[in-house]
Amino acid sequence: MSKDVIIVGGSAAGLMHGIMLSRLGHKVTILEEQAERQSQAAGIRLYSETIDILQKYAFVPPSVQEGTSTSLYRQNGKHIFSGNRAHKNISWGLLCKVLRDAFDGTGGEGQKKGQYMRGARVSSIREDGEKVIVGYSNVEGGSPKSISGDLVLAADGANSTIRQLLLPQSMRKYSGYVAWRGTVPVDVLDEETNEFFARKTSILLLKRSYLIVYNIPSDEGDNDKSRHINLVWYQNFSTTSPELEAALTDINGKKHQNTVPKGLVNPEVWNTRVQLAAKLMPAPFVEVISKITRPFVTRVNEVISPQASFFSGKVVLVGDALVGLRPNTAMATNQAAMHCAEFEKVMMGDMSQAEWDRKMLRYGEKQLALSVLVSMFGLGSVGQLIKSILAFIGTSIGQAVRR
Ligand SMILES: Cc1cc2nc3c(=O)[nH]c(=O)nc-3n(C[C@H](O)[C@H](O)[C@H](O)COP(=O)(O)OP(=O)(O)OC[C@H]3O[C@@H](n4cnc5c(N)ncnc54)[C@H](O)[C@@H]3O)c2cc1C
Repeated sequence: MSKDVIIVGGSAAGLMHGIMLSRLGHKVTILEEQAERQSQAAGIRLYSETIDILQKYAFVPPSVQEGTSTSLYRQNGKHIFSGNRAHKNISWGLLCKVLRDAFDGTGGEGQKKGQYMRGARVSSIREDGEKVIVGYSNVEGGSPKSISGDLVLAADGANSTIRQLLLPQSMRKYSGYVAWRGTVPVDVLDEETNEFFARKTSILLLKRSYLIVYNIPSDEGDNDKSRHINLVWYQNFSTTSPELEAALTDINGKKHQNTVPKGLVNPEVWNTRVQLAAKLMPAPFVEVISKITRPFVTRVNEVISPQASFFSGKVVLVGDALVGLRPNTAMATNQAAMHCAEFEKVMMGDMSQAEWDRKMLRYGEKQLALSVLVSMFGLGSVGQLIKSILAFIGTSIGQAVRR
């Protein structure tokens, strides 16, 4: 029977679930608070679950950047190690564009189309018999509205409003470091720099800090020549440090909770990063950092919800709203894709909601422990690294015993 489905949040997780549910014949409405599409998470690693979703419901854009290895470098530029592992990278903007097309655009031609409502900020949720009522208002003003559905998916990210309304104690917590991020079009970089970063992921290890650099297509995905070099630079800043305060205070003096978006990072603060890079890093990394014109910075957080579904399965948390991983393993989008593929089984009657909840929380718990371990490899002290290894082993053993 066709259900009225409301999805809160229209990013990667919301769109994947929206397409899947529309294709199953349900009437899907996505409520997204951003009035305009803003590309924030610049680069996304494509793992098999996300590729499967793209192949099933849309297509893998030909401009996706393929790499064959991951190379580690010391601060002085000395190459330490290369691991051969094929990988694919996309930009968050292009991924969402392809998914959006499949949901309600040209890609959905001949299919049941969903409805995507921009500027709709959700602020309440309640059960009303067999239905769930979601309250929202337009970010540009106007009186509050509500919409009712048979099923509500909360795909509203790690800071999920729905999760916090239903479980007020489940706040995300600061992981102790920030990620400076930015992209540079390849045509403004020297040929040697492009050649240095070609066909691989490069990791530069600094003292309890590190950078990851790889190629991604442009948000439009036009062609290989329009690709960008994507950079993420992780740095430890304690909760009360003046560096954290400065990083999160934008050019207008406004303090941001988590991300200072592109175009708003204080140039003085960014210049100190550029100068530090010039002092510490090998030439190709320095060139990329000095040519980033619109950097942005994110306070890295983590969260795992103790519960996945509510109101007898009529409300379900998916994507980062359920488990917000540390970004160091680049697994968040893949996790969202896995939630989607497994939730299809629930909708088809091949898996119970309780089993989905158990399976996805177990997966999330292990992925979160792994993301802590990987982050500590580059950012932690020896003691913190050992602790994270023991915690990962403990999680794995605990899960095996519980099963
Ligand atoms: C530094 C960093 C690097 C990352 N790198 C990678 C990577 O390499 N690979 C990877 O897979 N992932 C990466 N991620 C994670 C990725 O950005 C997403 O978090 C992931 O794709 C999961 O997406 P999501 O749809 O669950 O959540 P989000 O992308 O956070 O989307 C949530 C959506 O909900 C909307 N929303 C929020 N509240 C409301 C509300 N009240 N009402 C209506 N709408 C609302 C938001 O506007 C947003 O569009 C990175 C994240 C960070 C911070």
